[in-house]
Amino acid sequence: MTGGVVSSLGKGVCAAAIGALLQAGGAKITLRKLDPYLNIDPGTMSPIQHGEVFITDDGAETDLDLGHYERFTGISFSKKDNITAGQVYAQLLEKERRGDYLGATVQVIPHVTDRIKEFITRDHETYDFIICEIGGTVGDIESLPFLEAIRQLRNEKGHDATLFIHLTLLPWLDAAGELKTKPTQHSVKDLQSVGIQPDILLCRIDKEQQLSDEARQKIALFCNIPAHHVIAAQDMKSIYDVPLSYNEQGLNTVIGKRLGWQTKKAIDLKPWQALHRRLHYPEKNVSIAVIGKYTHLVDSYKSLAEALTHGACAMNSAVDIKWVDAENIETSTEHASFFDGISGILVPGGFGERGTQGKMIAARYAREHAIPYLGICFGMQMAVVEFAQNVAKIPNAGSSELETCTNPVIGLLNEWTDSQGKAIKAHKNGQMGGTMRLGAYPCRLSKDSQAYRIYGQEAISERHRHRYEVNIRYQQQLQGAGMIMSGLSPDGQLPEIVEVPSHPWFIGVQFHPEIKSRPLDPHPLFVDYIRACLDHSLLL
Ligand code: GLN
Repeated sequence: MTGGVVSSLGKGVCAAAIGALLQAGGAKITLRKLDPYLNIDPGTMSPIQHGEVFITDDGAETDLDLGHYERFTGISFSKKDNITAGQVYAQLLEKERRGDYLGATVQVIPHVTDRIKEFITRDHETYDFIICEIGGTVGDIESLPFLEAIRQLRNEKGHDATLFIHLTLLPWLDAAGELKTKPTQHSVKDLQSVGIQPDILLCRIDKEQQLSDEARQKIALFCNIPAHHVIAAQDMKSIYDVPLSYNEQGLNTVIGKRLGWQTKKAIDLKPWQALHRRLHYPEKNVSIAVIGKYTHLVDSYKSLAEALTHGACAMNSAVDIKWVDAENIETSTEHASFFDGISGILVPGGFGERGTQGKMIAARYAREHAIPYLGICFGMQMAVVEFAQNVAKIPNAGSSELETCTNPVIGLLNEWTDSQGKAIKAHKNGQMGGTMRLGAYPCRLSKDSQAYRIYGQEAISERHRHRYEVNIRYQQQLQGAGMIMSGLSPDGQLPEIVEVPSHPWFIGVQFHPEIKSRPLDPHPLFVDYIRACLDHSLLL
């Protein structure tokens, strides 16, 4: 799957929706993402530029498209399912330095392209379909080795085993009163110039527009494909309507016929249809304030927004997310104004000092006003610091990520193990220190907790991405003041969940539950959080 004309067309969603559609016909599929940029590690890219970093069970920090893949297909992906051009080059150069090429000239063709093909076709015998998304836009210099690799794949595997889907845009021009096909034609020409003839065109159009027969014929003629292979990829009210829309246009049949694939069972989209009804005909509505730092860029909290939607949907409710910039709370004297009409407060993950006071004010506000509070990772840590300072009255309690404090209730693990309770380390001046805890870790829940009631089991596994931890040494003091540690790592050393039993719903989790939430399998914490928020909304 390639993309043309402009970026941000939603290739990830389209690829994932095709995956879901093929699964509905009984196919065993997987998805893979190739990113043409040179960064080796997407984890170091700014969420402002690139949207959130998605974490896999095995601890890879990947592109957010893998999040779409997981949400649509229910598959848990791994490190091996995302590769960047930077990684390809790094691997080759390492081999070259080791002398593995025995003095041969190392080149884009065949060395880079071979590595890309190897990535795409790994374990291919396990699947009916491997859906492979090439990031970027056709025409970019960076994508060339990737396009060359898929051209070669067609040549090697044959026409009946490979299919090229190209996603383009049909812009609407008011002056002409029609959808314009020229950018699509040009983009297909770009593809043809590198030896790729697309088989299917997915054309993004605005929700107000229809793809007329005339436009379809014109695209078919100029782009050299059958008219019924031109599929409208219309803006939908929800991305979860996309598999239904593709099915209505027979995309499944087109792919099946072209690749000689017989569906293993009649296509069953009932779960998606039921989801569609719940999404578009909610019985209730709930407003939740999310206090963050990158609130102007919703993509940086992609999984969170999705998880809230899934949770609300499960409760037959809509959710209205009010994005609040933590720094605006800090500078305001009227804190209540931010929470007017709000039924839940959520502080998501974050790094660094900016906005932390605002996040603590939000946690305190939720605690004091009995508003359901969900703190995720940094949002949990801030709630613990706030509680330690204002309720447990632990002097100079803080997080050593942010400041020098005599009582680091949040700190780096090695600080308190090495120092008999006195270690105080400041991690300022650009020093990061410690390595991240990344990926899935087990956690045990205490039976008499909210967390246990919500999960309905004692042993859970959730995905992490953080350096700092709640310091288990403060367990007694916090507990005495009314905050319990209801989830711990199996060795009992790392607090994973905290809650305030005297509050209607106040939970902080060290992990990222939003990452594992799926529309057809919503995360229990989000479902229960929304339930509590709906209860609270009745009091407003
Ligand atoms: N900055 C915090 C830490 O490193 C929290 C990270 C997060 O919220 N993902 O522990």
